[in-house]
Amino acid sequence: MTYLARQIICYPKFVNHCILKMQLTVKSDLNVSEEKGFAYIQPCAAEVGKVMLESNLTKLVGTTSDKIIDFNVLCNLLNIYKIRFSEAQCSLTLGVSRVKWRGKTISIFKKGKIKIREALNNEDAMKMLQDLLRLIWGSIICEICERPAIYCAAGMCNKCLEENVQREFVNLDELPTGIMLSNALINLSKSLSLLNEIFSNILNGLHGEKISEIRVKDFERLLNRVDLNTLDFMVQTPDIKQASLGFIPLGITFNLKNVLKTVNSLIKEINQNLEALTQSNVQVKREISDVFRKIVNIYEFISQIASMRSKVKRDAGKFRIALEDIRRLEEKVKDVSDELKKFLSNIVKYFKEICLTGLRILNILGGGV
Ligand SMILES: [Zn+2]
Ligand SMILES: [Zn+2]
Repeated sequence: MTYLARQIICYPKFVNHCILKMQLTVKSDLNVSEEKGFAYIQPCAAEVGKVMLESNLTKLVGTTSDKIIDFNVLCNLLNIYKIRFSEAQCSLTLGVSRVKWRGKTISIFKKGKIKIREALNNEDAMKMLQDLLRLIWGSIICEICERPAIYCAAGMCNKCLEENVQREFVNLDELPTGIMLSNALINLSKSLSLLNEIFSNILNGLHGEKISEIRVKDFERLLNRVDLNTLDFMVQTPDIKQASLGFIPLGITFNLKNVLKTVNSLIKEINQNLEALTQSNVQVKREISDVFRKIVNIYEFISQIASMRSKVKRDAGKFRIALEDIRRLEEKVKDVSDELKKFLSNIVKYFKEICLTGLRILNILGGGV
């Protein structure tokens, strides 16, 4: 099966002063010093002839806040990228991470300090700093919402991603590193069609069939591959604005990882209650399947948008209808006096979560255009 990915995508729009709008650049002025600003280079203590760079994220970003980096997100990003490192450690409790990347040892500390050791020369050290910033961008805390940038990109902070605004389109063929982003989007398409497969298994589960969890693991692996492709793209794209396009797939997979968690709980819940589900004759059973079928349709629609080459058309109507149905279902489930009551209300809760996540994904793709 061949998978298509969008060739034409649009730049997401973020509010002013969002960390995703601010240009995280490292000036090419190599005679940097602490007084001048952002980085300090001196001979490397570990290896003669090499240099060491010290910098601080608070200076690079120009923030006064003492919360500059989210270590949870940082460790996740480094973990996704670990096959590119010869060594990697990230400790949440200590707030220190250390990786060996292209022969250099890089340490990042909780308060934003960055050290790059064993760089060949000043230029090499500065290039490493720039690439590192691209890699960890998603973990830097945004001043607007005080959440890590990846939440802004995913539309989860509800503050930074602008909805219903005219967006600027870009053809990936015209980007020097467009092929890398294309690869990410192709894998995203694959993961969305795998999700549809999982959803149809769940639908069968609602009709009394035991649901296998194998495909869910495959789904997770695919999402991590999308992230790896995307981080490669962001690290290797010199232009910062073009590199920020990586936040489209990153924002979507961040949402899909949420769906993954919810789907896991949903499958467990259904599998545990299969017998009771088939024996019970509560009225809402049929309606539950109907509503879930609508959610499946919505994700098929998202999958189409992700693979189409054309512009995205506004179609939030489907979501509104599905959400209304879910709300109605919530009310009905409250009145069920069956032993399935708890099970049913949990299921409806998961449906709602999956549906709202779909709406966020559509918005990242430019559903508001
Ligand atoms: Zn933001
Ligand atoms: Zn935000």
